[in-house]
Amino acid sequence: MLRTPSPYDDESLAGYILRLSETNYYQSPHWILQLAGYRGNRVLRFNSHDNQPTKLNQLTGKDNKLLKSKAFGATTEDNITSYGVYKKATQLCPDCLKESPHARLFWDSKISRVCPIHQCNLINRCPKCQQAIKWSRPGVVECECGFDFRHAPTTLATDAQINFSFYLYGTLGRVEYMNAIKAIYTEDNPVFSLTFSRFGSSGIPVVNTKYSVVVKKMNTLR
Ligand SMILES: [Zn+2]
Ligand SMILES: [Zn+2]
Repeated sequence: MLRTPSPYDDESLAGYILRLSETNYYQSPHWILQLAGYRGNRVLRFNSHDNQPTKLNQLTGKDNKLLKSKAFGATTEDNITSYGVYKKATQLCPDCLKESPHARLFWDSKISRVCPIHQCNLINRCPKCQQAIKWSRPGVVECECGFDFRHAPTTLATDAQINFSFYLYGTLGRVEYMNAIKAIYTEDNPVFSLTFSRFGSSGIPVVNTKYSVVVKKMNTLR
């Protein structure tokens, strides 16, 4: 492969493959998937617990451990995995894409509904063609219909959803978000001992009481 940029810290493996494909002017990421020996619907769960070289490692020259860290299921403590990860569909935050055009790992979790950074609802349909957004698409910011997702309108999430997104983001290793939410609810609050399976089918628990304080703290982190 000619161009092999490094993955971003918060990028998903599928998103990285999409960006590699776009950077190399391939028409679709399926070419790379094929070369790397993945089946399309398995890419997000790319993971074996050994450290053997993979074809993607050989194609990109990037460290195999680093590549694996971009996939859900990379660690046993990754409790988001057991809840559910999107396989073909995905969602995104238009404002995050404006800041940096790469697909975030956080978006691929089915219980992620809200961007903790921009506090807006993630979008899962293209506002122009109304089709579900798939991770495999012409470009990171581009829909199959040609729409640029950075121009998609966003809606503000509810207070409870925003707080929950801070918590989720915290479980993905964003310590500052976890600390901020713990400072509000205190560490022995039952919300921190909940497992995701107990959040019910909507996936969103109502935990908000002191939203304005959290937002104030989060804004100082940006
Ligand atoms: Zn965002
Ligand atoms: Zn579209």
